[in-house]
Amino acid sequence: MAVESGSSPLIELRNLTKTYLLGDVEVPVLKGISMKIHEGTLLALMGPSGGGKSTLMNILGFLDTLSGGQYLLDGKDVSTLSSNARADLRNERIGFVFQNFNLLARTSALKNVMMPLEYARHAQSAKAQRAWAEHLLERVGLKDRMDHQPSQMSGGQQQRVAIARALVNRPKILFADEPTGNLDSKTSEEVLQMFQELNAKEGLTIVLVTHSPEVGAFAREAYHIKDGLMVDGTY
Ligand code: ADP
Ligand code: MG
Repeated sequence: MAVESGSSPLIELRNLTKTYLLGDVEVPVLKGISMKIHEGTLLALMGPSGGGKSTLMNILGFLDTLSGGQYLLDGKDVSTLSSNARADLRNERIGFVFQNFNLLARTSALKNVMMPLEYARHAQSAKAQRAWAEHLLERVGLKDRMDHQPSQMSGGQQQRVAIARALVNRPKILFADEPTGNLDSKTSEEVLQMFQELNAKEGLTIVLVTHSPEVGAFAREAYHIKDGLMVDGTY
């Protein structure tokens, strides 16, 4: 499906670079990435391992900082925010899903989902927060598993808990880094269908990182990154 490209983008990157310092050796990892991410898209960030996908994702999600260029979010330059301001934006605007789920293994699914609420400013009562977390677990098909711990769950169930957790602060954008990397093909498909549904029905903007063309096929548009450069894509 074609994605509206005339409207102003949710995210715009202008010649973004990232260089790591290993000892006193500079390692350029992102070498000038320019791209636009429009609200409501389901975008795949693809390319071979080591190409810089996770580095880019972590910068987009304010888990890491850029070295050069510009990052505009909603038209506002967020390239040089303080770490506190970045943490606030991350909590308020962004949801994250990782390959290894990153759940607390011995804490109930419900408590895992509610955890990010503690770091955000909320007017909601504790009761309303709990009801919202329960609703999200129901939404991902885990109504009967809310009191289970991740250690008692399958990989697919754990990833669904992680998706519910990523949605709990009502993010504008969801970043998923190789979200099906630890799942078998049937479970992968279920998780990817869930992303498609969240995108199509609820208008959630999703950026999916993957090295797998089969996973990329679930997206509306794809960008390819290789050796720190965008090799093609719809820009
Ligand atoms: P991908 O997700 O596409 O597999 P990454 O973004 O994880 O790629 O890594 C891209 C390159 O950056 C790799 O060569 C990796 O070794 C390097 N890299 C990633 N993180 C760091 C870091 N913290 N310090 C130094 N080099 C890093
Ligand atoms: Mg990676």
